[in-house]
Amino acid sequence: MESHPHATVPPPATADLAEAIGNTPLIHLRRASEATGCNILGKAEFMNPGGSVKDRAALAIIQDAEQNGLLAPGGTIVEGTAGNTGIGLTLVGNSRGYRCVIVMPETQSQEKIDFLRMIGADLRLVPAKPFRDPGNYVHVSRRLAAEMRGEKGGAIWANQFDNLANREGHRATTGPEIWHQTAGAVDAFTCSCGTGGTLAGVALALKGRNPAVKIVLADPEGSGLYGWVKSNDLTVTGSSITEGIGQSRVPANLEGAPIDDAVRIPDAEALEYIYDLLIHEGLSVGGSSGINVAAAVRVAKTLGPGHTIVTVLCDGGSRYQSKLFNPEFLRSKNLPSPPWINA
Ligand code: PMP
Repeated sequence: MESHPHATVPPPATADLAEAIGNTPLIHLRRASEATGCNILGKAEFMNPGGSVKDRAALAIIQDAEQNGLLAPGGTIVEGTAGNTGIGLTLVGNSRGYRCVIVMPETQSQEKIDFLRMIGADLRLVPAKPFRDPGNYVHVSRRLAAEMRGEKGGAIWANQFDNLANREGHRATTGPEIWHQTAGAVDAFTCSCGTGGTLAGVALALKGRNPAVKIVLADPEGSGLYGWVKSNDLTVTGSSITEGIGQSRVPANLEGAPIDDAVRIPDAEALEYIYDLLIHEGLSVGGSSGINVAAAVRVAKTLGPGHTIVTVLCDGGSRYQSKLFNPEFLRSKNLPSPPWINA
């Protein structure tokens, strides 16, 4: 009989939402594996309670602030985010009595905006500006947190880019989970970066157990990180329709991470994997996951058959229905549409 998850003993009841974060499945990606002769595995982070890998960073940042006496019930958490960290912070915040003020560029998907409002975030949309501009969402959130510090219960700035609690959360959970789920038989790990917390945390955990594990940064077209890894050149050359990844700087969470190589993935290539995973394997994933799986296939081709490559399925496709599954939007970007959706 085919194995079924319910045939195994499920974990015991959790105390609260926080304990339901992490311990996500590691899913064999059949077609990517067959195409390369490798074993390509996707860490199903879209199965976290808030629907993304960022639940882990949100929880780690909140726990760290609590342990340092910076946050107590009634307090406020302020953060600048592409959306997913805001969702994680708001849900964990709701479960512990914190209010969340979320600053987000207005260019991010309507689905994330709607969901943040639905779950009670105090959402402040700002125009998208480069990091060097004082109007950039990160700077706006930092100033807001400073202004609110004196309010009842106090306010913290989560500061996911430079707060090392983020990557520490991944070093302590995501990395060891991958190690255990592969019984240590992992040859390479590849992942795109927003804050770099996922890549750096997992890289530190895996290299600490086996220094031969190859760590490859996956970057969308136009981002500066590919050039940073390849030739120490952070120049930004364009843009991508993917959200939450790509950088014009090296956040503290990425600094010093043991990275061996980088690949750069065009949006059209990422979309091919997103559509293929959905229609042939039933996996509904977002843009960064497409970049990650495309990168895993490239790494597999470089390493040759017989290797195990792990990557991250960061969030779900429904978060980007109005973009990645909208022929009109895709046409405006000169990109292919899902073949089963009529224009
Ligand atoms: N994918 C998605 C969809 C995200 O929202 C983010 C974070 N903004 C990432 C990937 C990147 O994760 P990290 O911040 O850990 O680099």
